[in-house]
Amino acid sequence: MNHKPTWFQEMLAAQGITLSERQLEQFELYYQLLVEWNEKMNLTGITEREAVYEKHFYDSISLSFYIDVKGRSLADIGSGAGFPSLPLKICYPDMKIMIVDALNKRIQFLKHVVERLGLDHVQCVHGRAEDIARLPEHRDHYDFATARAVARLNVLAEFCLPFVRQNGLFIAMKGTAPDEELVEATASLQQLKGKLKAVHPMKLPFEQSDRHMIVIDKIAATPKKFPRKAGLPLKQPIT
Ligand code: SAM
Repeated sequence: MNHKPTWFQEMLAAQGITLSERQLEQFELYYQLLVEWNEKMNLTGITEREAVYEKHFYDSISLSFYIDVKGRSLADIGSGAGFPSLPLKICYPDMKIMIVDALNKRIQFLKHVVERLGLDHVQCVHGRAEDIARLPEHRDHYDFATARAVARLNVLAEFCLPFVRQNGLFIAMKGTAPDEELVEATASLQQLKGKLKAVHPMKLPFEQSDRHMIVIDKIAATPKKFPRKAGLPLKQPIT
């Protein structure tokens, strides 16, 4: 890539996000830990510094270009190596984050990152979204729930919407135009009390690949029967 390393700071500043020295150091330490732990476990296929900053960090933060996340609570479902929630948390330290991932090794990595970066109000929970969403402390609770690269929208709705409080938002971070997925998810959204609010298209600044942020309003509490038993949403998606 032919850009200077300062692009990250400058492009975020253009979006009204001014990063302090400490925040820039947190991103750099996060990058180093990601690459270091990636040698022992599968966290990401992207390890080149500039690419991590663009395709993981910048892409994650782009959620806040469209949604005001300051001081809000966010459930990140299937966060993997911490995307999108940890880059958002670094930029907006007053957010409250709850991460769920089914792979315990990734949760251990995330706990380590949270500790090393000195982040507070980040809870990392090992488990399946379908099970964790049934616990009263997480159900219908968060201002927002999000997921990036986890499943198709009809499945994601069942993973994510149960975490969102009434009048909160479910934000699905997708790549190419999601028109087909939106049609496929009609019944799922309806049954899980979601209503499409907006789709925001974006391109990554250098690689120029497409991104689409699907924003869904939660219009009522989650019906008792959802989410179904762990594994079922993926095996038998609502159609
Ligand atoms: N969101 C991250 C990103 O954008 O880089 C990680 C994406 S990774 C492809 C998908 C992650 O979702 C994996 O870490 C996997 O363990 C997790 N996952 C898949 N199904 C899940 C479920 N039902 N509950 C919790 N986590 C799940």
